Amino acid sequence: MTQLRGKPVTDAMAERLRAQADALRARGVIPTLAIVRVGEKPDDLSYQRGAVKRCESLGVDARVFAYPADIRQDAFLAALDTVAADPDVHGILLLRPLPRQLDEAQVLRHMPPEKDMDCLLTLNLGRVFCDDPTAAAPCTAQAVMELLHHYQIPLEGKRVTVVGRSLVVGKPLAMLLLRENATVTLCHSRTKDLPAACRQADIVVAAIGRAKMLDAAYFSPGQTVIDVGINVDADGNLCGDVDMAAAEPVVAQLTPVPGGVGGVTTSVLAQNVLRAAARAANG
Ligand code: NAP
Repeated sequence: MTQLRGKPVTDAMAERLRAQADALRARGVIPTLAIVRVGEKPDDLSYQRGAVKRCESLGVDARVFAYPADIRQDAFLAALDTVAADPDVHGILLLRPLPRQLDEAQVLRHMPPEKDMDCLLTLNLGRVFCDDPTAAAPCTAQAVMELLHHYQIPLEGKRVTVVGRSLVVGKPLAMLLLRENATVTLCHSRTKDLPAACRQADIVVAAIGRAKMLDAAYFSPGQTVIDVGINVDADGNLCGDVDMAAAEPVVAQLTPVPGGVGGVTTSVLAQNVLRAAARAANG
């Protein structure tokens, strides 16, 4: 069994992305991401730390705009409008879910489409679904594609089972895979006989959010398994949706958690900021 680690992917992306950042800086453009956070949720803080570190290592400035957990809707919209209107900010990452008192649909109406770095707007998601090659996909879905491309895993004509149909991972990923001529089965909590749907695939992508849910019954020999899940197990350790100990003796290739897709996501975020900065600079 080969582990498909994220680090070689991010190292290869880093060369390309640093060159893009250097070229923009040489033109006087400082590619800049605004991370907008409400409250102090540990998951948000952890993702923020990773994103800031990765962006800065690639020559992308990352500014954090943090607001109290009980901020009111009108105050938050005014704050977001200020960030959105700043011409020095090329991309905005809104950490979600937002606290209950904030109406997310209304908040998203204040996000300029060209600064929407995680493809949260229906407009941007629609462009991904319509195969617009200039549209930036949600970071995690694109991170899975970067990983598959880096390890030269063939997609054309392959059967890919994606478990999870969220708008940030499963659904857009299904569209990106389809664009590359994979035959995609998109599964969810109501899928009948999920183990069989996984076993019959060449590639299984788990984007569920349930610690170690996919055990040996879900896999067959020769498969490539991409584990998007980030969970905490009963012992408090970070783990994916795949039971690695059960999958390892069966499958051919597997992304570890931690150390797999997770780190690639922040590189894709930096890539999206660089693309937005280049677009803004080119008018
Ligand atoms: P989500 O919005 O909660 O969606 C979970 C999906 O899994 C839903 O479509 C749900 O089906 C499906 N599901 C839940 N239980 C299931 C079951 N027992 N059998 C089959 N399907 C089931 O989660 P998400 O935001 O897509 O995230 C998924 C996982 O990826 C989480 O662990 C999250 O932490 C991780 N994640 C990782 C990254 C990264 O950078 N690597 C980024 C984002 C998310 P229904 O639609 O029927 O409810």
